[in-house]
Amino acid sequence: MLFGLFQTELRHDHGSRLLGTSTNVDNSRKALNRSLKGMQAVTKGEYEPFNYIDGTPGGPKKWGSLSPDWKICPEGKFQSPINIDVLGAHDTPSDLKRAYKDALAELVNGYNNIVVEWPGDAGGIEVNGSTYKLIQCHWHTPSEHTINGKKFDAELHLVHENDMGQKAVIGTLQTVGEPDPFIASLTEKLKMVGENEEIDLGNISASSIRYGSKKNYRYSGSFTTPPCKEGVIWTIADKVRSVSQDQIKLIKELHRRGFQENARPVQSLRGRQVWKFELPEEKEYTHS
Ligand SMILES: [Zn+2]
Repeated sequence: MLFGLFQTELRHDHGSRLLGTSTNVDNSRKALNRSLKGMQAVTKGEYEPFNYIDGTPGGPKKWGSLSPDWKICPEGKFQSPINIDVLGAHDTPSDLKRAYKDALAELVNGYNNIVVEWPGDAGGIEVNGSTYKLIQCHWHTPSEHTINGKKFDAELHLVHENDMGQKAVIGTLQTVGEPDPFIASLTEKLKMVGENEEIDLGNISASSIRYGSKKNYRYSGSFTTPPCKEGVIWTIADKVRSVSQDQIKLIKELHRRGFQENARPVQSLRGRQVWKFELPEEKEYTHS
């Protein structure tokens, strides 16, 4: 999951953007503001560059040494992603309810990922009686989680947050095949968005993202990017979805150097239990 300091900081001015219609001038200003904020963050030492290239000073094994706030990356006991051993997962009653709705969304080409953000009320999920609002979704190529040791071509993360700031993420694994309808609906905008830019997407409901997995896995983990903060409730769908090679290529090309392969290696379970639960069959949403 990607939701680091940088992105958190960028969210502060979202409210005001809902009021006006975007123009090219507005977009340029947004891009500039974004760059400036990024530079300030670096200058203040609030975050240091990290990447996914093993053996480099910013690679995954070094994240803990890049900032005093990131020590939990190597030292934490609840780190993500993990390998899911299907036979080792124990049954638990279903506690997940999904209720997304149409809301204005933005495509953000940020520091290290392509993100669809919902600054307003886009609905969300209920986990164990607590409500988590949908904030954003983004992709990892290849997948971060593995099932029985198998890695997939991509993984979509839907990030939710409750009133106390706790996160719940739903991950969907994807393998090369038929195009993914959600990415297909964004293709035109994905081709338009430049580095450090954002584009208004109009109203989008996350219910248009294919899910409908009867079997699901649950465990307690962390952000998969620095600062690797723990306390994240993870749900991984067992049903693997398809994505076309062209769509993977499109997303990878938008990720900058060091982030084309943006999957953190799997982390040790350190005694954690992985749970499995079943959801009632959902009616699949289809794009017309
Ligand atoms: Zn992610």
